Amino acid sequence: MLAATDSLAAENDWSSIHPPVVGELDLNEINVVDTHVHPPHPITLTESYDKWNSSFVGSMLPGYEYEGKEQLRKRLSSVFREHLYNMPRQTGYYNYVARVYGVNPDLDGFNSVVTSGIKRGFSSYIESILDREKIEKVLLESREIEARRPESPIPSDRFVWSYNIAKIIQPEWAAGKELSSLKDVVAEISNILEHCVADGCVGFKVNVAYYRPLGIDLIDAGTAEKALQKLLKNPADLYVPFSNVADYQETEMQEAFRNYQDFLLRHIYIKAGELKSRIIIHTAVALHPALRFDFNSPLKLRNVFLDDEIKKVETRFLLIHTGYPYHQHVAAMLSQFPNVYTDLSFYSKFPGVLEETLRAFLALAPADKVMHGSDSNNVPEEIGYCAWNVRQVLAKILRDYKSNYGWSQSNCEEIANKVLHGNAKRLFSIGS
Ligand SMILES: [Zn+2]
Repeated sequence: MLAATDSLAAENDWSSIHPPVVGELDLNEINVVDTHVHPPHPITLTESYDKWNSSFVGSMLPGYEYEGKEQLRKRLSSVFREHLYNMPRQTGYYNYVARVYGVNPDLDGFNSVVTSGIKRGFSSYIESILDREKIEKVLLESREIEARRPESPIPSDRFVWSYNIAKIIQPEWAAGKELSSLKDVVAEISNILEHCVADGCVGFKVNVAYYRPLGIDLIDAGTAEKALQKLLKNPADLYVPFSNVADYQETEMQEAFRNYQDFLLRHIYIKAGELKSRIIIHTAVALHPALRFDFNSPLKLRNVFLDDEIKKVETRFLLIHTGYPYHQHVAAMLSQFPNVYTDLSFYSKFPGVLEETLRAFLALAPADKVMHGSDSNNVPEEIGYCAWNVRQVLAKILRDYKSNYGWSQSNCEEIANKVLHGNAKRLFSIGS
């Protein structure tokens, strides 16, 4: 084991030997926009992972009670801890903070950086990360159900925000608001979307792939009204633990639930187009055992993109998290549909997958269609690490294009600027 000072010297050498340069272009000089950030919280990485642990464990436990369930829960809890700390992103995190702060490249080193940042003042710690990595703006996903710009420790001139529609398409929300007809539900949802946009919201987040497929059927208002009445009369008594949405057992109720949401999702997709906003759709599988491939497949989104009413209002869709492992399907869609985009969020924590996905997109679609994102959760050092990663990987790909495909220096510069900030600024109308 090397002493901290020795390992620091070695890490620093690495950074100067491998700067993110393409010819005379240094990607460290180019600003970054991060299109997917969850609210940061003043906690360590260990505390953040511990928060997730019970959700991972829960999806690997039998749903019913039995003798021995508690022992299995305990064992799985340490199994998942081990599992999470051995992902490639962990290696990346440790080495990054070691290079930047001169701590040991391990969990204690990482946590010590976060703890001292929190002590110094959480907001100024976040600002120092954004400044260090030249991150101009982030797109923060609000956790709130209220249609207003969220409060955040992120400096206010450094973020724009999006609204998650997860709750307002659930029958429990309609019941709680005493909205007893489809007309009232639709009016209230429209009202919320309008208020969001009036308060600067730049997009509506859709995470239905946590519990149902992304495709929607064309449902008429009469069928949706009948579905709503059925759902209001028969409230669910079981909920999917991961997404906390109703888990109906009878086929008839499942069908009503699906029809009701298909109708509302289509309404939201059309309304977003009318409001010149964007739809941000979660599509990817990794890490959490509860995520299903069939639900996350983007294939059925084709019908959404080709829906006549959606076509007329030109709704723009951002498929976040690259669609992995369906990123090649996403690449094909980016090349087909001018109103469909993707971001690199979450997978930008994994340099190997980041390279694979970014290569797939740049290989086929206009360079206008892919943008950087982190999917940073709780610990803001992730925002910095992902920005560092995307510069390194993008530089590697562009050097390859330049030396092997004959791309000119200015071709490469144009692509670098688009991916790092230009595309996000254009899609979300973000000014400098
Ligand atoms: Zn996310």
